[in-house]
Amino acid sequence: MIAPTRPKAKVVNAAQPVKRPPRPERTIIAAPEGEKGQGTEEEDNKTRSGVTPPFAALRDGRWGRFFPFGSTCLRASPQSLPICYNPAMSPFLSIRRSLLHWYDRNGRQMPWRVRRPGRADPYHVLVSEAMLQQTQVATVIDYFNRFIAAFPTVEHLAAASEQEVLRLWQGLGYYRRAKHLHRAAQRIVTEHGGQVPRDVNALLDLPGVGRYTAGAIASIAYDVRAPILDGNVARVLARCFGIEEPVDAPATRKQFWQLAEELTAPSRPGDFNQAMMDLGAMVCTPRRPSCVTCPLARYCRAKATDRVDELPRTLPRRAPRTVTHHILAIERGGRYLVQQRPASGLWANLWQLPTAEEVPIDGLTAWAAEQLGLQLGELQPLDRFTHQTTHRTIRFELWRTSVAGGRLKRGAGEWRALDDMYDLPLGNPQVRAIEQLQAKRSHPKRSPSPAPT
Ligand code: SF4
Repeated sequence: MIAPTRPKAKVVNAAQPVKRPPRPERTIIAAPEGEKGQGTEEEDNKTRSGVTPPFAALRDGRWGRFFPFGSTCLRASPQSLPICYNPAMSPFLSIRRSLLHWYDRNGRQMPWRVRRPGRADPYHVLVSEAMLQQTQVATVIDYFNRFIAAFPTVEHLAAASEQEVLRLWQGLGYYRRAKHLHRAAQRIVTEHGGQVPRDVNALLDLPGVGRYTAGAIASIAYDVRAPILDGNVARVLARCFGIEEPVDAPATRKQFWQLAEELTAPSRPGDFNQAMMDLGAMVCTPRRPSCVTCPLARYCRAKATDRVDELPRTLPRRAPRTVTHHILAIERGGRYLVQQRPASGLWANLWQLPTAEEVPIDGLTAWAAEQLGLQLGELQPLDRFTHQTTHRTIRFELWRTSVAGGRLKRGAGEWRALDDMYDLPLGNPQVRAIEQLQAKRSHPKRSPSPAPT
């Protein structure tokens, strides 16, 4: 039997420089194993044949090749290469694949979401998207479940009164969304036979449906390739592509939309959009994003150039104006005066205890006489709190008082027991005021809040 011969070890003289093979000009970053097959067949073939490489990296690891994109080329920082996009070259394929791969394993469970191969109910998507504007998912889930239990179909919602809809919306804020949703349901029933439209333009024609909501409904409910762009998505795009322009500048906004449109996956666009939402909410968060768990880390320019904390940039904001509103809890025979707010403006059509907006304290008595026709007794301070809106910081001051004379003006309100007020749609500050009144009624010996100044 012949013993196998050991191959001779190659002796390397450490004193001599080792001859290395030449480095390639660029390195193609291919999608990792297990992430293939998320794009179209045509895209996959292109990638395999090397005709359209998804991305190329420079020797030092930075992005090194970006493709010219007509006249709408997003500018990068002066220090780095310009970022241009060419949809024909499809440099986004790897991003789509990685994101969908991540979403399949990490996407959030929500009552309006249905996993493939099922399809989400378009009405559920419409309701959820209306609720999610300006509101966190965790807050929306309970409201969504109650809303769908009360109005299981678009026909039920269309047939409800506005007050019923507002009542179920109470606490979510931004009540205009509820009114728009109600009117949209009525239009869907009368103009679309009760079927939420699939076409983006038809969706855009509905009250309260903007480009983001239309894209979300069309893609999630019908798998239409329609982009979405909100704060979360803009943040991911700005960081991933190293975009330095402010995300909220009107001119940049247009380009962000274009980028989102080109990036949206042609297959599974609904899942892709939801993956972008989830990534922005769970991983690429405004502060301390989790880059180590991010499926886009290998493509991310902000990470590669150590600018994660600098991006996205925003335009300087004007500080919100601070105003004071006085809530008057006017009691008569154990009941309190409530009135409906005007049909336009903040908290439109909701109910409230009479509230004097931007009236000085020494003008409250005169205000009540003029607006309500009532003379007020002594004003007792009960509570003060702050409510933040987009443009204003509102300081609420709650006063308890009684009727000392006069006659309630016609249409100025009605008298209700405190416990019955929850049947009315109320804004959050009014709910807090009523809760304070109830608490003070239950615990009359508690020391009052410090007197407003
Ligand atoms: S790597 Fe970090 S900064 Fe870049 S997209 Fe992911 S989480 Fe955001």
